[in-house]
Amino acid sequence: MSLIELKDVARHYQLGDIDVPALDGVSLAIQAGEFVAIMGQSGSGKSTLMNVLGCLDNPTRGQFLIGGTDASTLGPDQLAALRRERFGFIFQRYHLLPHLDARANAALPAVYAGAGASARGERARALLQRLGLGERLHHRPNELSGGQQQRVSIARALMNGGQIILADEPTGALDSASGAEMLRLLKELNGRGHTIILVTHDAAVAAHVRRVIELKDGKVVADNGTPAGHVPPGELPSDAPPVQGGGWLRRTQVQWREAVATAWLALKGNRLRTALSMLGISIGIASVVSIVALTTAARSSIEKDVGSMMSGRLPFWAGNPSLPPGVQPKPFRPNEIDSLRALEGVRGITLNRQMQLTARYQSRDATVQAVAGDVNTLKGRKLKIVQGRYFGSMDFEAHSQVLVLDEKARDALFKKGQSPLGQVVLLQLGGGQAAGQVPAPPSTALPFTVIGIAATDGGAISFSGGTSQLYLPHTTFARKLEPRADVWSFDVNLDNAVPPNQVREHIVHRLKALHGREDFSSFNAEEEFRKFKQITSAMAAVFAGVAAISLLVGGVGVMNIMLVSVSERTREIGIRMAVGARQGDVRLQFLVEAVVLCCLGGLVGVLLSWLAAQGLNAAQKQVEVVVSWGALGVAFAVSSLVGLVFGTLPARRAAALSPVDALARE
Ligand code: ADP
Ligand code: MG
Repeated sequence: MSLIELKDVARHYQLGDIDVPALDGVSLAIQAGEFVAIMGQSGSGKSTLMNVLGCLDNPTRGQFLIGGTDASTLGPDQLAALRRERFGFIFQRYHLLPHLDARANAALPAVYAGAGASARGERARALLQRLGLGERLHHRPNELSGGQQQRVSIARALMNGGQIILADEPTGALDSASGAEMLRLLKELNGRGHTIILVTHDAAVAAHVRRVIELKDGKVVADNGTPAGHVPPGELPSDAPPVQGGGWLRRTQVQWREAVATAWLALKGNRLRTALSMLGISIGIASVVSIVALTTAARSSIEKDVGSMMSGRLPFWAGNPSLPPGVQPKPFRPNEIDSLRALEGVRGITLNRQMQLTARYQSRDATVQAVAGDVNTLKGRKLKIVQGRYFGSMDFEAHSQVLVLDEKARDALFKKGQSPLGQVVLLQLGGGQAAGQVPAPPSTALPFTVIGIAATDGGAISFSGGTSQLYLPHTTFARKLEPRADVWSFDVNLDNAVPPNQVREHIVHRLKALHGREDFSSFNAEEEFRKFKQITSAMAAVFAGVAAISLLVGGVGVMNIMLVSVSERTREIGIRMAVGARQGDVRLQFLVEAVVLCCLGGLVGVLLSWLAAQGLNAAQKQVEVVVSWGALGVAFAVSSLVGLVFGTLPARRAAALSPVDALARE
């Protein structure tokens, strides 16, 4: 059985309407171990024949058998396997990858065979050393002479075994000395058992070989056949053990590592372009992350303020905007309020009483707001005790004459550095005006002992309205300061057994019956808060959507740049395919490149938004913006996804290229 057999093979090119028969009915058989020279004028079809022989191109007609297998029955990946395992190509223009050094160029076919990095590197080094390039392992092609580059491509051809070496005018670009050296090397390889098929112009070369095939206009016009007495060598050349490819797992590992390394090199080689396309993704990711972080921060800060203050409370107050003009609202009477205490869902009721009065300590006095405090007052007003204590149940029960000052009242009444705790302050009644509309009682002065100092606990909402505040037990307030028991507002404390809205309805219903009309108002914080949350989440979604559009634009930019990259690197793709890359390898390479590009962009984007958040947090104290690890993870996932989505088209384009077309592209 012949190693290679062509039966009536034709290859036609279609140039517009013109049909160019580059090969026209070629039949020949080549035995293993032969050295064949193919000659003919320029345009006679030599390269076309070589491409068919090397499984880079498909004949339009006829049969091409390799080792008895009909190549036309094989799919692209099986053809890639044939190229990888059986053939070694040597091109007139060397076709080395410019960004790889000599050793990596020589080792390239082993990558696609799935050999590990160290085994590849070792074999490439050994081959280059044998070819006299031991000192040039780490030189790039542009640092090597033509003859040296061609020797690197011989090493590459031998990398996976190189049973059949196809050399298309390998000496065409070399000076005569390098050309002669080249031929000597090819002869030596033939002596070791490699089958050599060489295209040449040089009649002197042809004189050295025993078989010459001459082409003219796509037809074989002369062929002196396999020399008599030719003895085929064994299956593979004895001294060229190929690197062993690994199993499926190993191959996948090598494939991914190569894809990532190539992507990295390609991105590094085009720094400005990489940076600009990354910028698109960075801006997209930064805007999405920042907007999510900002809206979350704003919401949680408002939720914290409003939530802690309002949760579990239903405020009621006298007066209603819908009252007819001239109708005065009535205050709430004690028996009315008592009747509410029994309603389901009501844990208790806090009466809001406060009045303006004059406080005196020794020779200092100040106008202050006296507030009736109960157990919920600290929480409700966002206060904390910074010195001393707050009222206990004893104080409420005994109607104690004790008070808590806020910092402003303390500063008004006491000298700096003087401790107010235990001091007695006189409250002047009748000097000010009660908060209600009833005249204040006649003027008296009551002594109160200071037991604590309260300070505001942060938050954006102020209750004091800027006036100095002091707090008295609500029982004391009711008995000693304002005997009149009617109140103008109160808070219902909920026990959460019944939905707040239902409790409110019951209370409204009861009070309406008692007052004869709805001359009061109430505020369901939970309900309002729920609406507020709905609105803010809708707004957050809209913002995030707008930000996502910028991400989309970034993705389109990446796709664009990847398409440019594919068309620029068509020849590289051709070379990789010629040495045995599968379509999947090429697809993976470009997909990984797009994903790496987007992930880098995403990383920068997260970094940008993190920096912005730090800046914002340093500039103000109201809202704390947090860019979480979760955001980092999501940003990474999103940018990989953008890379996948927008890298797919360019990657598929690259993989669909035919090797011979890709190689021919300049
Ligand atoms: P050689 O290598 O002997 O110089 P080729 O095999 O390159 O010749 O080309 C043989 C013929 O086919 C020439 O006429 C050439 O113009 C034509 N040809 C080669 N490649 C293509 C192509 N990709 N498209 C159209 N015509 C082509
Ligand atoms: Mg040619």
